[in-house]
Amino acid sequence: MPLEAEPVRLAGGPILIGSANAVRTCTKAAELIAAGSHPLDAVVTGINIVEDDPSDHSVGYGGLPNEDGVVQLDSCVMDGPTHRAGAVAALERVKNPSSVALLVARRTDHALLVGEGALRFARAHGFQEQELLTDEARKIWLDWKETHSDKDDWLHPEADKESSRWRREEGKNWTTGTITCMALTEGGHMAGCTSTSGLSYKLSGRVGDSPIIGAGLYVDNEFGACGSTGRGEANIQNCSSFLVVELMSRGMSPKEACLEVLKRVAKHTEKRLRNKKGEPDYGLTFYALRKDGQFGGAAMRGETKMAVYDGKECTTVGLEGLYKD
Ligand code: ASP
Repeated sequence: MPLEAEPVRLAGGPILIGSANAVRTCTKAAELIAAGSHPLDAVVTGINIVEDDPSDHSVGYGGLPNEDGVVQLDSCVMDGPTHRAGAVAALERVKNPSSVALLVARRTDHALLVGEGALRFARAHGFQEQELLTDEARKIWLDWKETHSDKDDWLHPEADKESSRWRREEGKNWTTGTITCMALTEGGHMAGCTSTSGLSYKLSGRVGDSPIIGAGLYVDNEFGACGSTGRGEANIQNCSSFLVVELMSRGMSPKEACLEVLKRVAKHTEKRLRNKKGEPDYGLTFYALRKDGQFGGAAMRGETKMAVYDGKECTTVGLEGLYKD
């Protein structure tokens, strides 16, 4: 079936795309680029807005913690023209991992710092430390802790009621989320950033795709950029973002490339992660921006949205799912 035409740049100026929660990010980054900022600084400053916002439980301050109740953040940045990248993983107590990742790219000879080493590096650059677990996020975590199993000693106050069993069976308090944003300036400079608190209630020390170049983000200034949200393990196993950009370099449109990689990821999906129909039963979304300004994306399941600043204004556009929900 022919794929519908994808939108291209509608006005002059920079073009920015990102996950649905990146509307403020794209708007801010566009403003900064127009005022002369380096696109990587602009994208990171835009992402800082959401990292600072306690109401987004998937990123930065207020993000949902790991299974021990500790918030561990992952992020990476990549600059098109220099191909330099920086990342931090399992970073605790610093609310803006994207800013630390940017410094890893600019002020070290390395590409990825993790855990205690990443925190020490952030301290050296004067980042403030703080408790990242908000009261609201702690209550969500505690609710999960008290309801996810009836074989441990944690008791939910409503343990005897039907509702608590129902929540556990339906997995209602399991959340995912991340922010990703990519920029293309009028002069053809591309840059991107991904930031997340990762899969909620993950094992301590688990690192997702968001700080892994080629998995949760990839930027090639000659061809384009791709960022991703959703099940990080699938992206690590399939080098997904790299592959989307690679397929665009061979002539695919952004949407075609995203759908093709989703199909490959689906084919590699283990049985335990499939539903009764045999389809992958997890969320995964790609957002892609080609060097000529064409953008598109696709999701594994159901419809989702993508933030787009087309040179004039920032809106969200719908993305198709490979499988219907
Ligand atoms: N990609 C993130 C991770 O696996 C989580 C998400 O986007 O939901 O850490």
